Amino acid sequence: MSRDVHEVYAVYYARHERRASENYVFGDPHDAEEPLAYFVWVIRGPHGTLLVDTGFDDAMADTRGRTMVHPVGEGLAALGVPVDEVRDVIVTHLHYDHAGNHELCPGARFHLQDDEMAYATGRCMHHAHARVPFEADDVVAMVRRVFAGRVVFHDGEDQIVPGVTVHRIGGHSRGLQCVRVETRRGPVVLASDASHLYAHLETGRVYPIADSVSAVLEGYRTLRRLAASDAHVVPGHDPLVLARYPAAAPGLAGWVARLDADPSASPVVPV
Ligand SMILES: [Zn+2]
Ligand SMILES: [Zn+2]
Repeated sequence: MSRDVHEVYAVYYARHERRASENYVFGDPHDAEEPLAYFVWVIRGPHGTLLVDTGFDDAMADTRGRTMVHPVGEGLAALGVPVDEVRDVIVTHLHYDHAGNHELCPGARFHLQDDEMAYATGRCMHHAHARVPFEADDVVAMVRRVFAGRVVFHDGEDQIVPGVTVHRIGGHSRGLQCVRVETRRGPVVLASDASHLYAHLETGRVYPIADSVSAVLEGYRTLRRLAASDAHVVPGHDPLVLARYPAAAPGLAGWVARLDADPSASPVVPV
């Protein structure tokens, strides 16, 4: 086994009840209930512990009408992650549900794509439509980190530590990046919002928030190129992740899932 093999976990923290029609450009003919789940992800390996995204806090849950299930800090504590010691946080993009909780890892470096900072601080934010998924405070917090020397910028594809790479996909947000992780079952790709739900990748449909629809669609091709199989792509907001993967430890079922374990072919636990 390569010494660069990592453990990967999805840490569920919040939920939003909604209809399927809200999740796709052109709606959905069945329009059943199709809630979103909110996650951060933890990568643990020979080079330390990395956090992927920081989620949002209780106040933002109230502001945005989301249901906080387990605050992010509690999930990380349950997994035994020493947040004070996390040195690297990969920010997939700057949307409110991925870039809040500003004080979570005070000593960390934050890995971000050039295009995401340019997009979130540039001319497109004049448009209310483009601003919807952003919070100015999250963007300002990242700018302050730039001035503190705590942001590592990436342009396209880059290695964070051996066995962990980021890849710009764009589409949903201009500088959205996914994360590819070498694991015991082969390369796992944390899609984040490059595929909100399994259904987006599987059916080629598009989530309604998009900077570029064509880049979203090309992104599905990129996810498949990077992952060992479709079963190695982990969508960013699908409650099924908690059903398909085993719990990280007893007592964490429906909360923290272990993604470097083989997923079940069909969901066994309704979430
Ligand atoms: Zn997003
Ligand atoms: Zn998101």
